[in-house]
Amino acid sequence: MAVMYESTRNKKERVSASQAILKGLAEDGGLYVPETIPSFDIEWEKLSSMTYQETAYEVMKLFFGDFTEEELKACIHGAYDDKFDTGEIAPLVKKDNAYYLELFHGRTIAFKDMALSILPYLMTTSAKKNHVNNEIVILTATSGDTGKAALAGFADVPGTSIIVFYPKNGVSPIQEKQMLTQKGENTDVVGIIGNFDDAQTGVKKMFNSAELAKRMNEKGFQFSSANSINIGRLVPQIVYYVYAYGQLIKQGEISGGEKINVVVPTGNFGNILAAYYAKNMGLPIEMLYCASNENKVLYDFFCTGKYDRKREFILTSSPSMDILISSNLERLIYHIAGEDSDKTKALMEALASQGEYEITPAMREKLSCFAGGYATEEETKKNIKKVYDGTNYILDPHTSVASHVYYDMAETSGVKTVIASTASPYKFTRSVMEAIDKEKYDGMTDFELVDELNKISGVKIPAAIEEIRTAPVVHQLVCDKDEMQNTVENILGL
Ligand SMILES: *Cc1c(COP(=O)(O)O)cnc(C)c1O
Repeated sequence: MAVMYESTRNKKERVSASQAILKGLAEDGGLYVPETIPSFDIEWEKLSSMTYQETAYEVMKLFFGDFTEEELKACIHGAYDDKFDTGEIAPLVKKDNAYYLELFHGRTIAFKDMALSILPYLMTTSAKKNHVNNEIVILTATSGDTGKAALAGFADVPGTSIIVFYPKNGVSPIQEKQMLTQKGENTDVVGIIGNFDDAQTGVKKMFNSAELAKRMNEKGFQFSSANSINIGRLVPQIVYYVYAYGQLIKQGEISGGEKINVVVPTGNFGNILAAYYAKNMGLPIEMLYCASNENKVLYDFFCTGKYDRKREFILTSSPSMDILISSNLERLIYHIAGEDSDKTKALMEALASQGEYEITPAMREKLSCFAGGYATEEETKKNIKKVYDGTNYILDPHTSVASHVYYDMAETSGVKTVIASTASPYKFTRSVMEAIDKEKYDGMTDFELVDELNKISGVKIPAAIEEIRTAPVVHQLVCDKDEMQNTVENILGL
């Protein structure tokens, strides 16, 4: 029987996997969760000899039961091919007794590629299965990494188009250039005069407008979302934890069945939730360390059982973790509430209206496999330098947050620990190089720093960076935050 999906806010809203992928968010505002988390029964010996693609199929077939074997394999092989700069797709690198799971070998050199390279295939296959003939218009607001990864994933995918809004003055120069040079007939990138919240709010408004949906449908369009709440992004992220476990066995680091820990640099709680699902499927994971930067809402939550977003938003050197509302936490809340959608709904409504909620002692007990940790800006920088000095390995700031938490909390646990490494240092060159030697690199341009990083690390400059040195800017639309819908209507010719 294929696993069905239900909304965290209304158990009765049940849909198939392909419908959940198409819709993204449930109509009641809840998130789709599998009605039961399937368990896998792969022998350890066999797992250790499986390729990334084979592992992906074994995991995804359990969650995407309404896809045929042929459909699912076509999605997997379309996504995980030579777009990745290594056949391993997600290499596991041992440094100083920790195992860094490098999730940044895809086209945009951040871990978002792990899921956004397959989402377009899952989406178009789902559309076909559900006899959707409209063109799927992906509408996304981004503060940096998601926008580029989604653009790269959907560019020139038949039956889809993508429109990305970003805050004109709120992303890094490299991130902006990555988006503005995006090729593809079906891609549009729009800078807005406003901040990320304005972009997000404008996008949500369009999603929720029945009037707009009706006019779009008349012209053969419908919206969908590439946001990390889509199960089409969550499930592909479970794969690399299973794969990493197989690699640990293969490399002779653990024996089959031995427990491991994972440390995950966390923002919207998608990546670490995938590790939690892997654990619940039967992967021997002991502890899940949730690593935050100075926006440490989740650290406080795991320490106290109280989620409180009423605090100052801090801009850090790990911008993809600068977030005060971690959307995917709602799924964990639902599971620890005993799959009680009324309770989950009440807590989420409290978060929206009062900015906080507190879970019950019984719910807290179910969180014993989680521990929260965090790194300050100073600690993040120091850790980049420490790991570089000790091992010659260079971490990006997001991974450094997790690595700091590893040294702080997991190093002496006696359990082998995997650290999710979420971005290439080349994506955040300035922060990284300044952490290593501020005086020496002060005043250099971004591309001079790229060359310096190449010199000291010996790591090849990724194609994603080489491309934008010379690529022409092809997107120049800018609009006011109140003009977003008009802009979309013009693009679509409504
Ligand atoms: C998105 C992102 C994160 C946070 O992942 P979540 O799934 O949102 O918790 C961490 N690091 C990098 C580099 C990212 O792009």
